[in-house]
Amino acid sequence: MTCDDAFQAHLVQGALENEGIPSVLHNENTSNILRGLTPTISGVDVLVYADDFDRAMKVLERNQMVPEYLKYCPCCHSPQIRLVRKKGHGLRAFFAALFSLLAVAPPGTAHWEYVCRHCGARFEKPVAREEKEEGQP
Ligand SMILES: [Zn+2]
Repeated sequence: MTCDDAFQAHLVQGALENEGIPSVLHNENTSNILRGLTPTISGVDVLVYADDFDRAMKVLERNQMVPEYLKYCPCCHSPQIRLVRKKGHGLRAFFAALFSLLAVAPPGTAHWEYVCRHCGARFEKPVAREEKEEGQP
């Protein structure tokens, strides 16, 4: 997930650590490398292992730390989405994804996408909630 700033990122990382979920912060230090190459990078990314993703999301949901823009399908606005690998194997895919961020690997080395469990749509980025569907206090 991408946090707006390092403060939020550390809150998220701390919450994950409490649950025994390792995470990596990818912040402005490394994004210097990406400057000019990945214009959408801003803020701080918190990366977790793919196998921990569902667990991590639950932790963040419980702590109400999931940014709304991360949670919704662009087609049906269902929150029932999950991040999946297009190809690759476990840790290798994780590191390949990480290195592709850091080293600007050729496209296609590792590819991630979200799949909506509700309507089956595949997309690269979830969207913000457009209308209130199921209110979570
Ligand atoms: Zn959907």
